[in-house]
Amino acid sequence: MQTIDKFNFAGKKAIVRVDFNVPLDENGKITDDTRIRGALPTLKKILADGGSLIIMSHMGKPKGKVNAKFSLSQIVDAVSAALGVKVAFAPDCAKAADAAKALKPGEALLLENLRFYGEEEGKPVGIDKEDPAYEAAKKEMKSKQKDFAKTLASYADCYVNDAFGTAHRKHASTAVIADYFDANNKMLGYLMEKEVKAVDNVLNNIKRPFVAIMGGSKVSTKIGIIENLMTKVDKLVLCGGMTYTFAKANGGTVGASICEEDKLDLALNIQELAKKNNVELVLGTDSVVTNAFNFDSMSLKPGADVKVCPSGAIPEGYEGLDAGPKSQEKFANAIKGAKTILWNGPAGVFECDDFTAGSKAIANAIAAATKEGAFSLIGGGDSVACINKFGLADQVSYISTGGGALLEAIEGKILPGIAAIKGE
Ligand code: AMP
Repeated sequence: MQTIDKFNFAGKKAIVRVDFNVPLDENGKITDDTRIRGALPTLKKILADGGSLIIMSHMGKPKGKVNAKFSLSQIVDAVSAALGVKVAFAPDCAKAADAAKALKPGEALLLENLRFYGEEEGKPVGIDKEDPAYEAAKKEMKSKQKDFAKTLASYADCYVNDAFGTAHRKHASTAVIADYFDANNKMLGYLMEKEVKAVDNVLNNIKRPFVAIMGGSKVSTKIGIIENLMTKVDKLVLCGGMTYTFAKANGGTVGASICEEDKLDLALNIQELAKKNNVELVLGTDSVVTNAFNFDSMSLKPGADVKVCPSGAIPEGYEGLDAGPKSQEKFANAIKGAKTILWNGPAGVFECDDFTAGSKAIANAIAAATKEGAFSLIGGGDSVACINKFGLADQVSYISTGGGALLEAIEGKILPGIAAIKGE
């Protein structure tokens, strides 16, 4: 497989798929440039070699229609400043052949939002899924998607994919385009390489003991990951809202706590699966509960009663919103001594300061284990927000930039964006 380090971009035009889907305020100003910074090592290497850059990305969900709100023209200056070169802008990504041709070594061009074309995602535009004509329109769009990818490919000599956040999508720019380059002229960018390596560390290249911590709201959305991890981990900590589905399945009462009544059997199956695979399942025993929480404002209502009680004996009208002190200690002890750690999903409603303690105990234990030499991977949306909220981002080994992509990778699924480069 070709690698970005080996490849010499001198005199070459490189088309690079990045994830510049950055958040903007109402004036079109970038509020968090993490994603731009994440792609810089790849973009800078290409320019430093003497190559020219054609940068492409999506922004938001314009659903196949031009929409100024999602125009990448808003970020050209920021990309120029980050790269240290004046970046040109192509206002139509499918009509950028001349602008690409004019690029000299060391120059860069940013294409307009790929998703202004329905071809990017390969989904029919303006036709309902229920419409009888939908299937035919979808087929036609798949063929148009290939033409679109071919047009993008025609701008360049080589293709680099550095957009991990969209690697689980088989889009024109993330996967289909790779068909138009031979194996020597397509490769993963540095950010992608880091993500792939981090996933490999928790799925294949495991140092033991391996402890995974899965939290969040529901067991149903995490079941694919839990099943895949069952054959790999030594300990599995299950926390957050799913605690109550387990508590109820084991005969407890959970009051008004979030509980998936139709997943009680699933919870029991997971317990069985853990036994069969010799995995130590770590469940919380106590919870911080309240009788008055407002999920819209993520705050306690005035006069709310907050107390600690057993997770399987929660009074009527009360809901468990965080791990209690005994559970926190149990989780921290389970993490202590781990050599590989994966964390996805908070242990409570961490958005509210009254219910952060469980997630904080986990984050602190991960930071401590990392200091002792563990490899720790944090990923998938809210656990990243937790680590940042607690100021511990620099005390873990790797924070993934991919939400859905990371979760699918950990489920053991092959990501189309990576498979297209590897030729799988
Ligand atoms: P997920 O997207 O499944 O990882 O879930 C993240 C969300 O789970 C966060 O917004 C948390 O507020 C929420 N969460 C964590 N613990 C609980 C709980 N005990 N009850 C309700 N929601 C929870």
